[in-house]
Formats: sequence, structure tokens, C-alpha cells
Amino acid sequence: MSGDEIDINDLAAYSDDDEDLNEHEKEKETSNGKKDTHVGVHSAGFREFLLKSELLRAIEDIGFEHPSEVQQECIPQAMYGSDLICQAKSGMGKTAVFVLSILQNISPINGQVSCVVLCPVRELAEQVKRVFEAFQKYLDPPVRTHAFYGGIHAEEDRKVLQEGVPHIVVGTPGRVLQLTKEGALDLKNVKFFVLDECDRMLESNDMRSDVQKIFLKTPKSKQVMMFSATLSDEIKRICKKFMVNPKEVYINDGAKLNLAGLQQYYLNLEESQKNRRLVETIDNIQFNQMVIFVKTIPRAETLEKLLVKRNLPTIVVHGRMDQKQRIDRYSKFKKLYWRILVTTELLGRGADFERVNIVINYDMPKDVESYLHRVGRAGRFGTKGLAISYISTKEDKDLLDEVQKKLVVEIKELPNDIDPSTYMTS
Ligand code: AMP
Repeated sequence: MSGDEIDINDLAAYSDDDEDLNEHEKEKETSNGKKDTHVGVHSAGFREFLLKSELLRAIEDIGFEHPSEVQQECIPQAMYGSDLICQAKSGMGKTAVFVLSILQNISPINGQVSCVVLCPVRELAEQVKRVFEAFQKYLDPPVRTHAFYGGIHAEEDRKVLQEGVPHIVVGTPGRVLQLTKEGALDLKNVKFFVLDECDRMLESNDMRSDVQKIFLKTPKSKQVMMFSATLSDEIKRICKKFMVNPKEVYINDGAKLNLAGLQQYYLNLEESQKNRRLVETIDNIQFNQMVIFVKTIPRAETLEKLLVKRNLPTIVVHGRMDQKQRIDRYSKFKKLYWRILVTTELLGRGADFERVNIVINYDMPKDVESYLHRVGRAGRFGTKGLAISYISTKEDKDLLDEVQKKLVVEIKELPNDIDPSTYMTS
């Protein structure tokens, strides 16, 4: 637990060029001293965590049999109340770490918010709320969770809060701060504070400033947990400013973040050939669901129209869309209403698409980190997947080289035939 010794002024005064922070706390190996632990499942069951029987029942309903490595490493620490920084590959079950430990420890008091979880994008906030709902369903007294994010009229949020304050607030920083500032949301009883995909929130100045302001509205003594698939040393230092003696768990650390089960290929082509090649790929390759990333909203819209015209079950989701529509499409895609999703960087990280086994970088992302997050949308939770990147400019080629170097992978040219059993789980 973060005790009274946290220096809140220090946090508030933090600026980009603050260098005197925990310099000695350099990147560690995994918390248990193991190096480059591969992602896998452990034989120990959830029962060994001594979770409440209501949670074990929900876990059974959801169908989790064994904790994943990140759950094995982090749930006991989180349940114990330690502050926690956790870096683990996308899709390996980080959400359940904080959801289960919070539901285990929370004592819901009506009229009080006990927990705040901040997420960088609205869809993620909605997704995290749903995970809470799935796990909390047998708890008695009941726990209520609500998601607050932009794009929905703030008036609707105020109404929700007037009708009954949720015990767990999940949200994006902008909206949570707005509701807090105007007094609709009171965070003075918060005991758990979580940043999901923390690097994305802490690396942008605007979001970081919102996160800090929200943090300062919560009491000093609380448990702080932060999660991400990628964490630079710089971001780790910032994370630690919010915490007291955090436990640090780095599974598949830094450059070694491996994407086991994921096959990665590139395709050299001209910009003008992209549409034709894409349609050929979709026609010729077996897949469950596919996500196609493009660099701008207009390109996403145009591509969706083109694929729909060819009768391919495609939907687009981007940031300039009405929020309700965005969430609706996102959830329906997860429920298999469509097989192809065209999107921008917006859904590049965190989104949990269980059935997606192909990711196409129609346009290459801006950096290695975004590449890693994007391709992590395929092959979630140790399943297989395929990532194909279209290379049409020198910048694309340079980034591909950098990806191979930093992630220590060999990305080969897309062959004419790929055996579906190598990327489809039977
Ligand atoms: P996350 O990394 O939290 O987004 O989780 C990725 C996916 O893995 C989600 O679909 C989870 O439902 C699933 N998952 C998480 N933990 C487990 C587990 N222990 N057993 C099976 N599936 C899991």
C-alpha cells in the first residue's frame, strides 16, 4: 500500500526534465530473478490464490482453467496490497490481475467510490468494465462498476452518479477529471488506483496531466497498480512517482518481448497495389477475424467502403465516430457480427479481440512499439496468429528493419501459400 510517506507535491510538480528520480532503479529482470520467461500457463489453479468462493465461481463460469504467467506472478502481490508495475505481453491476462485482486479486497460502501481504473481509450474502458462485471456477478454485497468516457453526454454520467455512485469507476482521464472537477464524482474514499496501458497515458503530456490531477483528488493511502505491454525506462521512472516501493514484474522484458505463436511477414508493393493485394489475401487466406490498420481516418473509411462493396463483412471504427456507435461496433465485432475490422492507431493496443488471428498493417505504424501493440491483437492468450505488413516506402522498410532488430525477430517475405494450421488454432 502507498502509505502517508508519498510526496504528493513532488508528483504534482513533476515535469519532463525532472531527472533526479530513482536513477538507481534500473530495469530489472522479472521479479523472481528469472530471465526472459516465456509466456505459458502454469499448472497451479486459481484456488491456490485463496480467492473468495464467489470469485472462483465466476472464474469457472468464464472458463479460465489456469492462471497465466502474469497472473501467477502478480495476483498474490496485488492481493497482498502491494503497489505494482507490471509489464507483460499483450493478451496474457493482465486485466484479470487487477480485476480479481480488487474484487477480492474491496469492501463496497454505498455512496462511495473505492476504485478508479483509467484507460487511454474509451473502448478499453468499456472492455475493462465488462471484465469487472463478469467477475463480480456473484459477490454479495454486490459491487457496482460503471465506465465514464468522452463522446457520451456528460449529463448522462451525472445522472448515473446521482442515481447511485458506483463502487468501481473505470474511465478515460478527460471525462473522469471533468466529473471530478465539477464535484459530480468524489474520489476521496478511493483505495485502489489503476492505470491500464499506463505508458500511453503517461507519455502524452495532456493525458499525464489529467492523470496526475485525478490522482491528487484521491487519498494518499491507497494501492496503485500500473500495467502495460511496453514500458520504457523513462515511463517506469514516471510510474514510480505515483507509488511506494512497488513490486515490479517484467515478463518478457524489453527487447525480448516475444510474440510466441505469431507469424510475421512483410510484402513489398506499391501504394497503388495495396487494395488489390488486400482483396486477394482476404479471398485466398483462411481466417477467423482480421484487423486492418491504416494511418488516417479518411483512408479507413475509404477502405471499408471498398471492402463492403466487394461483399466482405467489414466494419470501420475510428476516433471521429459518434461514441455510442464506436462502442456498439466494437462490441459487435467482438461478437462476430463482422469478420473484418478496419481501424486506425485508435485500437492499436489493449483491445481484446479473442477471435482475431490476422493483423494487416495496410499502412505501417509510426514506431516499433506501435507495431508490437498492433500485431499483438492477433494471437491473444497464447493462441496462434499471423501479421502481414505492407512495405511501400523507404520509411516503411526502415521501420521493418528496426522492428526486426529491436524485437529480435526475423520477418520474412509473405510466401504464396501459408499453411493455415500454422496460424489458426484448430
Ligand atoms: P487481457 O490481456 O487481460 O486483455 O486478456 C486477454 C484474453 O485472455 C482475454 O480474452 C481473457 O479473457 C483471456 N484470459 C485471461 N486470463 C486467462 C486465463 N487464465 N485463462 C484463459 N483465458 C484467459
